[in-house]
Amino acid sequence: MKYVSTRGGDSPKSFTAILLEGLAQDGGLFLPERYPHVFIPELKAMREMSYAQLAFAILSRFMSDIPPADLRAMIERTYTKEIFGSDDITPLKTLEPGLHILGLSNGPTLAFKDLAMQLLGNLFEYVLARQERELNILGATSGDTGSAAEYAMRGKQGIRVFMLSPHGRMSPFQTAQMFSLQDPNIFNLAVKGVFDDCQDIVKAVSNDAAFKAKHRIGTVNSINWARVAAQVVYYFKGYFAATGSNDEVVSFSVPSGNFGNIYAGHIARSMGLPIKRLILATNENNVLDEFMRSGVYRVRKSAEVQATSSPSMDISKASNFERYVADLLRRDPARLNELWKQLDAKGSFDLSGEKFRDMIAATGFSSGSSTHADRISTIRGIHEDYGVIVDTHTADGIKVGQQYREPGVPMICLETAQPAKFAETIQEALGREPARPAGYENIEALPQRFEVIDADAEQVKAFIAART
Ligand SMILES: *Cc1c(COP(=O)(O)O)cnc(C)c1O
Repeated sequence: MKYVSTRGGDSPKSFTAILLEGLAQDGGLFLPERYPHVFIPELKAMREMSYAQLAFAILSRFMSDIPPADLRAMIERTYTKEIFGSDDITPLKTLEPGLHILGLSNGPTLAFKDLAMQLLGNLFEYVLARQERELNILGATSGDTGSAAEYAMRGKQGIRVFMLSPHGRMSPFQTAQMFSLQDPNIFNLAVKGVFDDCQDIVKAVSNDAAFKAKHRIGTVNSINWARVAAQVVYYFKGYFAATGSNDEVVSFSVPSGNFGNIYAGHIARSMGLPIKRLILATNENNVLDEFMRSGVYRVRKSAEVQATSSPSMDISKASNFERYVADLLRRDPARLNELWKQLDAKGSFDLSGEKFRDMIAATGFSSGSSTHADRISTIRGIHEDYGVIVDTHTADGIKVGQQYREPGVPMICLETAQPAKFAETIQEALGREPARPAGYENIEALPQRFEVIDADAEQVKAFIAART
């Protein structure tokens, strides 16, 4: 399998050649030349597989330049009961016939990003060792992504993580999760500033090409292809768990921000998995819902982004969206370049027109959005009706998913985080805090390891230079 740029300006590359890269050279995102197809007899065999076997069956098609035995070993080390809490890895909970929750948040940081990030840690270590290279990961986080990256990279050979977070602005739980890591290759930098300051520092350091090359600086953001590919697996797993035969179709509802999770669903559907609808749920920051309804993609300015009670979906633009648009345009790089030029120039593009609805329908997408009041009433309703507590992001997905239920089509709502991470809103909805999963009860009392630093790129550079 070879990978090409959405914008058509880079030569086809192998999986291991793009694994450690961010954008393609022409500024586009990498995509497989075509999605592999899964035929009916293969689906039949997959239905019987364990999570790790299924992951190998799917990922070996995307990661074809890694020797199969090596890939299998990495996958088997990643998807274990020890790391994800059960043999199912992503257990399906049935609320009532035809309505399910797929549990994606049982990894070490209690959010779905662990499912991809844990594999990424093993892939990075493997490829770096073979290329005799080292990597210094620099990132900015307001919570979820940073901790998932740190838990994936801790103790890995050839990798260091420098993670910037706004000093004193993360929840005590999130702070404790990250700062309690004692691994010598993990560096938590608490920046005297807000999240945007952290992001600006990452940009400033990355724009210093000489520093970046000398200190082998890289990132682990959501456009990383391996992260997207790893997420395809649980759509298959969820489908098999919710159906009795491969003649059935299902729909998935997906709480969405940067479009990574639902794009993986689009790949699964493109591979032939019988998915009827992919339901994209946003919160008040409804850039993507607006596009699905109107054909207009209008990115928001930072000041327009609302801070909501499902904060991991508070986005101004969706970093993986370009890949989906490439497919909508049937891989026409010239048109895609034109659209992104418009986006850079005026902050929006418009695909509306008579073919727009058909184009979206052909990909199975539907959408909707949710508000704080919707989240509260959904969390309450699900608790009253089924005795289950869901987190705020999952609630957004369930709220929108409910609107698209139809007879004979199981609805699978993706659970993207544990309620314990968003205790304040659960308290508001239910009048009490959710129980913490075993092992997390006293996490705030653990010793913490971090450095406070000014919001100054030069100081961050000096910190990194002294340790690499
Ligand atoms: C990252 C995240 C999302 C959004 O996923 P995308 O892949 O960015 O669309 C939703 N919920 C939670 C809890 C997350 O951490």
